[in-house]
Amino acid sequence: MDTKAFKRSLQQSENYHRKGFGHEAEVAGVMQTAYQSSLIQEIRDNNSRLERGAVTIRLAEAFGFCWGVERAVAIAYETRQHFPSERIWITNEIIHNPSVNQHLRDMEVGFIPVEKGQKDFSVVDSGDVVILPAFGASVQEMQLLNDKGCKIVDTTCPWVSKVWNTVEKHKKRDYTSIIHGQYKHEETVATSSFADKYLVVLNLQEAEYVSNYILHGGDRDEFIAKFSKAYSAGFDPDLDLERVGIANQTTMLKTETEKIGKLFEKTMMRKFGPENLNEHFQSFNTICDATQERQDAMLSLVEEKLDLMLVIGGFNSSNTTHLQEIAIDKTIPSYHIDCAERILPGNRIEHKPLGADLVVTEGWLPDGKIVVGVTSGASTPDKVVEDTIDRILAMKAAAVA
Ligand code: SF4
Repeated sequence: MDTKAFKRSLQQSENYHRKGFGHEAEVAGVMQTAYQSSLIQEIRDNNSRLERGAVTIRLAEAFGFCWGVERAVAIAYETRQHFPSERIWITNEIIHNPSVNQHLRDMEVGFIPVEKGQKDFSVVDSGDVVILPAFGASVQEMQLLNDKGCKIVDTTCPWVSKVWNTVEKHKKRDYTSIIHGQYKHEETVATSSFADKYLVVLNLQEAEYVSNYILHGGDRDEFIAKFSKAYSAGFDPDLDLERVGIANQTTMLKTETEKIGKLFEKTMMRKFGPENLNEHFQSFNTICDATQERQDAMLSLVEEKLDLMLVIGGFNSSNTTHLQEIAIDKTIPSYHIDCAERILPGNRIEHKPLGADLVVTEGWLPDGKIVVGVTSGASTPDKVVEDTIDRILAMKAAAVA
């Protein structure tokens, strides 16, 4: 498919909306009550520090809702205002946050059902309104909804669209897009749908494997098996790694994306000579500012003396998981939770260790004075952070009483 031409024609259609509908004032109240927090504002105003009794809370300088998420949620709420009686669907969680998604359900926004890993769009009729989430939707989904005669409200974050444009540039020059991301993540699924040839690498280790293959060849069958779900149809590692461009899922660890970019730049330089680099390698900076700021703030917070770290965000949120990785690298005891309710009575916490299932840890809050580092992913409202801090303060206060 000529994805560029399709997007252009979609953008001209009267059924396509990618801005709000002018109801900012009506939704501002809901946004404020549901997502903002006076306590968090107070902590921000106090150099990101709060001292109460035996507890010192240290908040990361940058955390929580990014503007792309805030924008997507506001547009989704405006959509309900603008189309009060139409059926409204969303192709996926608008963002990876349970409270936001529940709020949408309460507003009678339906989620497209998923059967055996496949979305069932048969529920959507002509004239229905369909919201595309902040991390976008595949071009095939957009086409299907357009063909059905739906009204499409596209809340895709402009940073994500920037990556799609990069992939279009790779395609134009017949480059294979090497995408640093999780091949199953909705954003990467969407990004790869714009590519002609692509290969998704999860981390530096996988990138090194590919680099090695480019430089020295290797076991083709092993390559094919290793990346079986992570490349475009018909991809051939012996033919399709001569010209590569770098793209990324916007929420990956920025330092790793940078290292992967440099690795492929060096690889192509070694293989084809520095004078031919431009014919074999392309890279644009597509790391999102918000992801970068949150990771930088976390890197600086973990330099302080902390007794433990709380990382708050959806369990399937990539940027939240990366924040937790930073704490783990520093060997700080860290707990990833998705809402305040995971903090249980009796000094227990239900949390998700990296790469593992939920567990309950007992006695997680140490006795005596403690310093707790707190951060949250780009899709976590301040209200959730406030509720979490309140629970910690209440538990420590109760322990002293
Ligand atoms: S994390 Fe970045 S790319 Fe993702 S929605 Fe927020 S601003 Fe956009």
